[in-house]
Order: sequence, then C-alpha cells, then structure tokens
Amino acid sequence: MHRTTPRIAIVGGGLGGLTLARVLQVHGIEATVYEADAARHARPSQGGTLDMHPESGQRALREAGLTAEFLAGVRPEGQDMKLFDKHGTLLREEAARENDMDRPEIDRGALRSILMDSVDPDSIRWGKKLTKAVTLDGRSELHFADGTVEICDLLVGADGAWSRVRPLVTDAKPEHSGVNFVEIGITDVDRTQSALAELVGRGSLYALGDNKGIMPQRNGDGRIRAYVAFRTHEDWLTTCGIPFDRPDEARAAILEYFTDWAPELTDLIRYCDDTMLPRPIMQLPVGLTWESKPGVTLIGDAAHLMSPFAGAGANLALLDAVELALAVVENPGNPVASIEVYEKAMHEYVLPESQAASHHLDLMISPDGDQQMMALFKQLDAMGAEGTDAER
Ligand SMILES: Cc1cc2nc3c(=O)[nH]c(=O)nc-3n(C[C@H](O)[C@H](O)[C@H](O)COP(=O)(O)OP(=O)(O)OC[C@H]3O[C@@H](n4cnc5c(N)ncnc54)[C@H](O)[C@@H]3O)c2cc1C
Repeated sequence: MHRTTPRIAIVGGGLGGLTLARVLQVHGIEATVYEADAARHARPSQGGTLDMHPESGQRALREAGLTAEFLAGVRPEGQDMKLFDKHGTLLREEAARENDMDRPEIDRGALRSILMDSVDPDSIRWGKKLTKAVTLDGRSELHFADGTVEICDLLVGADGAWSRVRPLVTDAKPEHSGVNFVEIGITDVDRTQSALAELVGRGSLYALGDNKGIMPQRNGDGRIRAYVAFRTHEDWLTTCGIPFDRPDEARAAILEYFTDWAPELTDLIRYCDDTMLPRPIMQLPVGLTWESKPGVTLIGDAAHLMSPFAGAGANLALLDAVELALAVVENPGNPVASIEVYEKAMHEYVLPESQAASHHLDLMISPDGDQQMMALFKQLDAMGAEGTDAER
C-alpha cells in the first residue's frame, strides 16, 4: 500500500466512506477513515433493506471487488411489491422473477459488514467525532471531540446528513421535506404474526392515502420494519404529543390517526414491538451544486441528502465513492483535479435522482397517494410497452 501524497482523510465510516476506502485500497492507495461511533458494533441497528441498482450500487460493488460477497447476501425476492388503498384493496402487485437481479435487496447491516470486512482494519479510527474542519492553503485541519487534531491533503466528508465537512464547500443545510416517519417493526414475524407476514410477503408494501402511509418491508433477519408516514410540519414529531418512549400509549396514539383505515393494515401498528423511532425526513435543496474547493469534497448524504422515496441515497453514496476513488487514481498527487472530475460527474448524475426523490414524496404522501402511484405505474407500463414495440 503506498502512502502519502496526498494524505487522504475520510470522515464517516458509513456505506459511502467504507466503499471509498475499499476502492482506494484496491488500487493501492492508503486512506484513513475517522468514524464517530465508538466501535464497529456500537450501533444496535443499521437500518432496513436497500435495493441495489445496477448502474450505481451494483457497479460500485463490482469496482470494489465485492460482487461474490454481495451475491451471497442479496434477496432478489425482496423486489416483490404490493400497493394498497386505505380500505385494504390491493391495487397492484409485482412479483420478482426467480433470481431477478434488476434491483435485488440487501439489508443495510449485511452490506455494511461486507464493506467493513473488506477494508484494512488499521485504516479505521473509531470514536473520532469530527467537531470542526478548517482549510489552510488547500490542506485541511481536522478537530475531533477527543481533543486531537489531524492534517490531510484531501478531506472527504462522508459524514451523512449533518456533515461537519459540508460548511467548507457550501452554506446549504438540510431542510424538512414536509414528511415525518415513525419507524416501527415486528420481530420474528412469521412466528409471531403470521397474518401480517403473509400480508407483507417477501418484499415491500405501500398503503397510501389521506396524506399518510403505512409502508412495511421484509428484512433478511425475519423482521418486518415499517415506516408510518405523515405529511406534517417540521416540529410535529416533538409537538404531536405521541409519547414515543412509552410504546403502549404511542401505539394507541398513532392508531388514532388511522381509525378509518382497514384493520388488516393498521394491525401493523397495533402489533408492533416496542422499538419506535421518530424520523423527520430531511433533504438538501434539489439541484444543489458548488464551485470545487481545493482539497475538500463530499460524498453520499453529506453531498446530496434526499428523501428515501426514490430508493437512491445508498446507491448514490456507493457510486460517489467509486467515481471519486477512480478520479484520485487517474490524477495521482493532484487532489484539485480529482475533485473537479468527480464533482462534475456527481452533480450531473445526482440531479435526476434528487428530483425523483422529491417528486415521489409529493406523489406518495398526498391526499390520494394510492391513485397517484397507480397513475405513475400506468405511465411506466406505457413507456415499457413503447420500449418493447420499438425493439420489435
Ligand atoms: C428511512 C430511510 C430509508 C432509506 N431507504 C433507502 C433505500 O431503500 N435505498 C437507498 O438507496 N437509500 C435509502 N436511504 C438512504 C440511505 O440510508 C443513505 O443515503 C445512505 O446511508 C448514505 O450513506 P452515507 O455513507 O453517505 O451516510 P451514512 O450512512 O449516514 O453514514 C455516515 C457515517 O458518518 C458518521 N459520522 C457522522 N457524523 C460524524 C462526525 N462528525 N465525525 C465522524 N463520523 C461521523 C456516522 O456515524 C456514519 O457512520 C434511506 C434513508 C432513510 C432515512
């Protein structure tokens, strides 16, 4: 492994930061990952299931030399999808073909483990929470909560939604999307709630309407994780009076918002376990760009936080990592050129994804989200039929 010009610091050991470290290491380039978590298993849950897109997430894993590990962990059947209205009417159902590798699902925890196992363990510094970064003539000084300071030539902010590196390149800040989630779940669902297991099936379910949604998904560990969505204002999660730390009362309070929804759907709330997570859905402005700055750049949510409604955030974090790593490889010792090449490509491919994430949020969590989704499917079906006609 060759060190040192430039010294590369990656702040954040999430999906983006780990992929970047891995691809650089595949090319013999050393980088140090500074992660705020105290240790690898410090966080009890790494989140839900992610569908990996061929042109971004899957491509990145190929560049990282991790296709075999990825294939061993994917669930192609997780692409199954059901759409319901609030009365419990099934409006649309899609079943994945056997071994369909279009957008197979993988649990975020499994993906993070694959990446973590692939990175030189000595290159990850745990318990390093960045509090401030300062640029000095193209170099950066990193200040950590433990009082230590490091200097680097190329600083990469892979530190997610509330990035401490972002202020070095832009004044933009995450804004509330107009939607809040309450994340709930049911563990070991096949054994404990077989009717709900059957309702959700192998993939994801969307029940939409009245500016709300109940959106469960099957995870690889036998758990159903569900996002209950509300189109409500930024402070709603703290002012609505739902006592999230008292799950029995919180379940009853959430159910009050769904009294005229089909009981078979609201059973997902009625029988959820005690893990309840309020999640405001935040996003950076759609179309955000900035002039390249010498020696510092961003990847993943730090660069383009978007709502999860296009299923793109993790895929883009992986793609950014690969694009930046390859730009570093192709411009040895020249961080300025590496950043310019990477950011030009990144801003272009991110734009349609962030537009889709914002558009889909508006469609889905709306007064008639079910009908809006049906209209979108109709459009996509027509485009697919046109494509088939053109191929003939
Ligand atoms: C409810 C929900 C569902 C989603 N579903 C999907 C989906 O289906 N498909 C999809 O593609 N995307 C999805 N996403 C988006 C996806 O989770 C993110 O886009 C992705 O995790 C971004 O990766 P990242 O590496 O940029 O950031 P993160 O995964 O947030 O990682 C950031 C890392 O930086 C560390 N860190 C933070 N601050 C500091 C600091 N100051 N100093 C040091 N370290 C720090 C954190 O501990 C963390 O390890 C979803 C998001 C949400 C909220």
